[in-house]
Amino acid sequence: MQSHEQKVDRICAELKNRTSTKPVSFKKKVVSHQVPKPKDGRYLDEKIDISDLNDIISVDPEKRICVAEPGVTFIDLIKATLKHGLAPFTVPELKTITIGGGVAGGTLESMSYKFGGFHDSCLEYEVITAVGDVIICAPDNQNSLIFQMLHGTFGTLGIISKLTFKLVPAKPFVKMTYEKYTSLEDYKEATWRHYKARDVDFMDGIIHSPKEWVLCIGNFADTAPYSHKYDWLRIFYISTKERKEDYIKTSDYFFRYEQGVTNVFPKSFLGRLFFGKIMGTTNVLNLVVKLRRFINPERIPVTIDLFIPFSKITAFFEWYQKEMSFFPLWWVPYKIVRRYEWISKELFDKNPGDELFIDIAIYGMPRKKGTNYYRLMEEELMRLGGIKTLISNNFYSEEEFWKIWNKQNYNTVKSQTDPNNIFRDLYTKTCKTMRGLD
Ligand SMILES: Cc1cc2nc3c(=O)[nH]c(=O)nc-3n(C[C@H](O)[C@H](O)[C@H](O)COP(=O)(O)OP(=O)(O)OC[C@H]3O[C@@H](n4cnc5c(N)ncnc54)[C@H](O)[C@@H]3O)c2cc1C
Repeated sequence: MQSHEQKVDRICAELKNRTSTKPVSFKKKVVSHQVPKPKDGRYLDEKIDISDLNDIISVDPEKRICVAEPGVTFIDLIKATLKHGLAPFTVPELKTITIGGGVAGGTLESMSYKFGGFHDSCLEYEVITAVGDVIICAPDNQNSLIFQMLHGTFGTLGIISKLTFKLVPAKPFVKMTYEKYTSLEDYKEATWRHYKARDVDFMDGIIHSPKEWVLCIGNFADTAPYSHKYDWLRIFYISTKERKEDYIKTSDYFFRYEQGVTNVFPKSFLGRLFFGKIMGTTNVLNLVVKLRRFINPERIPVTIDLFIPFSKITAFFEWYQKEMSFFPLWWVPYKIVRRYEWISKELFDKNPGDELFIDIAIYGMPRKKGTNYYRLMEEELMRLGGIKTLISNNFYSEEEFWKIWNKQNYNTVKSQTDPNNIFRDLYTKTCKTMRGLD
């Protein structure tokens, strides 16, 4: 088995010995969790092989700190940390999302109302630059801007080869309580109350319809009278409608949406009996990658996360119900723990008082011929000062894009870590290459 240093040396040599100036992308061990884009130009790229960076290097239960390589999946991380009664600050919904991809893409989930994204728990990164140098980036060293800019910039600034991050105490079970509301205003009030009080361990929600708003409150528990799993016959989001409370083993809680959030198929008992186990999101993503040549991108349902400033939620829903009115939706409150360096000053200035954003996840909305829902959402979000995740289909013009993402910070770091632009710039990668236009 190779040591971490040997693996890093191999990747550095691969970059240093490269003669081509064409763009590269990364070869990883597990599938990429992006909304499938059959025309993505990256399928044709030369690959830098980072597929062996999959080890957890240490878990320090006293200091509650973990050091790990970027290809470690959240399921493997959870297994290692729960043994010590610890968990990461934020665990995204799918088992095989990796911690490196999580930092580069900016992951969130039901602990984000308190802690922000997974990257907000990170203390240090080891980074391989495009020219094969290794640098250490931390919030308080000479590479502090690089540290902050690695978040949400989708691997366009360098390869994160080692991460050091904090852990929180965890217990074996999660007790769920489902608070039910019939109006957006009551739902907002309840979300804000828990956000301010920080009185629960987990908070997210399912909006079943304009009259049925469920806030899913979770708290760690030492024991449980029973526990349910949501990986086969039972569907988690439907249970939030039917139940008042529930108990789930902590590891099952973290991946309660592995079979999908609101886009779970099949839904019938017989369908789930025969296909429920195999129709998990990771399997579907793997299949789509294999069959991509035969898939019409226009037929892939809309899958997108929209980050809306809390003060604009009512305005957003007035627009959404007129224009789309697709339900159910996933509601994930997200605390902006700092004015993130990768977001433009202009965007933050639009919402000066907003410390809480809500991720409204629209998963599985059927497309309508002739209507570009992604573009309609971009236009509305630009009006509201919201942010759309880049993992989906993006139609921003370059000028619009850099009013949301921070061009000045981005260019400063890019010139240091990828002067020849072999990882592509963020706009090209997410708005052009992924649509096959690069
Ligand atoms: C169906 C679905 C559900 C999702 N649910 C959630 C959710 O609940 N919560 C959430 O927060 N997110 C969610 N996501 C988004 C997901 O977390 C991000 O897309 C994340 O970036 C995926 O990580 P990955 O490990 O699959 O990495 P990849 O998809 O392989 O990579 C993501 C980006 O990071 C770059 N990258 C990967 N590894 C490295 C590295 N070592 N160094 C530098 N850059 C790197 C890649 O180049 C790529 O641009 C979901 C996505 C999908 C498709």
